[in-house]
Amino acid sequence: MTKPIQINRPKPFLLSAKWSDGFSATISLEEFRKACPCAECTGERIGEVIYSRPKPVKFEPGAFELTDLKAVGNYAICAFWKNGHDTGLYSWDLFRKIFEENNLSQDGQEKISKKLGNDKRNISFKILNSIK
Ligand SMILES: [Zn+2]
Repeated sequence: MTKPIQINRPKPFLLSAKWSDGFSATISLEEFRKACPCAECTGERIGEVIYSRPKPVKFEPGAFELTDLKAVGNYAICAFWKNGHDTGLYSWDLFRKIFEENNLSQDGQEKISKKLGNDKRNISFKILNSIK
């Protein structure tokens, strides 16, 4: 099971997660948003037929602001973004993979902080209650 034991947002633009095997990582919400697995973001094709092409993320207000994370059944987590995008259903396996591939070093986190400001709010998601 790749479900994390803890998810929080150390800064408005960062997302951290921790797993019971000891792995923990912090990624930027921008990367998390770009990894959205929904049909709109990845495009839909069945065999050779393309039903819709992937839509790149628009840099519009709220596009990278996460308003909520909700567990869906026992297998996935749904992300709600401030610009209304809420179709991204991240399986726990994918969630873990995104964190493994985009883990930010302390240096990397500081660079993003300098770029985006230094808000100290630490937001824990309600998800914490539902994944124990
Ligand atoms: Zn999406």
